[in-house]
Amino acid sequence: MGCQQHHQCEIEAVQTAEMLCEKHSHRFTESRRQVFEALISSHKALTAKELMQFIENKQPPITYRALEFLTEIGLAHHISSINAYIACTHAHKEAHISEFLICTNCHEIKEIDFSEQASIIENSAKKSNFKPLETNIEVLGLCASCQ
Ligand SMILES: [Zn+2]
Ligand SMILES: [Zn+2]
Ligand SMILES: [Zn+2]
Repeated sequence: MGCQQHHQCEIEAVQTAEMLCEKHSHRFTESRRQVFEALISSHKALTAKELMQFIENKQPPITYRALEFLTEIGLAHHISSINAYIACTHAHKEAHISEFLICTNCHEIKEIDFSEQASIIENSAKKSNFKPLETNIEVLGLCASCQ
């Protein structure tokens, strides 16, 4: 689905990650890099547990801290509905609101930039006197290959 040239996509994502860290004067440490590379190795979401198996990390706190960092800086997203993480494919955009199409069968996720339409959701929240802090749309279903 979606990604035809994943090798190129991976290279670009790592380059973007390096640039973004540099821009914000953060260090792209070995553990951060390892976690990011594991996430971008596919467009599937990984739970923290799967991630640790993948990188054979024996020290969970390091992985959790790296995940926290990547999520904060916008290089990764936490997908609440399945409690898993994916690498962001729009990391070049500072703040963005995304629609995530989540395949519940294979956990492949497509991230669509929803920033322009998001005002509809935020306005309706404001009408209910609710202050939105974070808006992400998670759509659960089946990807093209799992249908
Ligand atoms: Zn790709
Ligand atoms: Zn994103
Ligand atoms: Zn699928």
